Amino acid sequence: MAATLRVCSLYPELMNIYADRGNIAVLRARCAWRGIGFELARASVGETVDAGAHDLFYMGGGQDRDQAAVARDMVATKREALHRAAARGAVVLAVCGGYQLLGAGYELGGEELPGVGLVDLRTVREPGPRLIGNCAIEADLGSGPRVIAGFENHGGRTYLGEGERPLGRVLSGHGNNGKDGFEGVHRGNVIGTYLHGPLLPKNAWLADRLIELALGVELQPLDDAMEDAAHESALSAAGL
Ligand code: GLN
Repeated sequence: MAATLRVCSLYPELMNIYADRGNIAVLRARCAWRGIGFELARASVGETVDAGAHDLFYMGGGQDRDQAAVARDMVATKREALHRAAARGAVVLAVCGGYQLLGAGYELGGEELPGVGLVDLRTVREPGPRLIGNCAIEADLGSGPRVIAGFENHGGRTYLGEGERPLGRVLSGHGNNGKDGFEGVHRGNVIGTYLHGPLLPKNAWLADRLIELALGVELQPLDDAMEDAAHESALSAAGL
């Protein structure tokens, strides 16, 4: 297969808790194992992105203070390009703190961090404990219902706007807000989720599906004995 997956990692040094950069390692490995090229670019504070130069944009999770540092910068320097990229079908994958910045904004401590408005959602701090623990959801990314397992730890509660689709239905854990039974967001090829792990090592099928969506290809399965064991272990941690 002659394709190359061109990935742009957003704010990699600021948005990388729970080793979220491991998601990039999984995408790279699964491309290499199939003879698909892999290019990694990065864009951080003050840097613009080229909407047409990447097939997949990625942002990991972050502490509130790191999110504050990136939120305004992302709106100022990357918002337009991300909208153009999403409109042409590029995959945008955002985890936890990154996910919270995909929507209208994140309100914390009387301050409103702006979001890039790729999807219709709002995140707020409400009284109550952080939502922490192993989590499993059922999601359908166009290849039939599958389970995604991971670990969540967020103080923010996310509410989707009317008509916005969640990434999945919570099987175990808290999800977006601990109330409505939904987790993440999924519009076109824009995907947000609270699940760390990192996410993709525990859900190799999801890594493959993202590569398929980003490149418009169909992938043949690999020998995933180890990856399947990691998935099973994450499922059992979540009580499934
Ligand atoms: N700082 C955000 C929150 O606590 C996101 C945390 C994270 O990325 N794990 O809600």
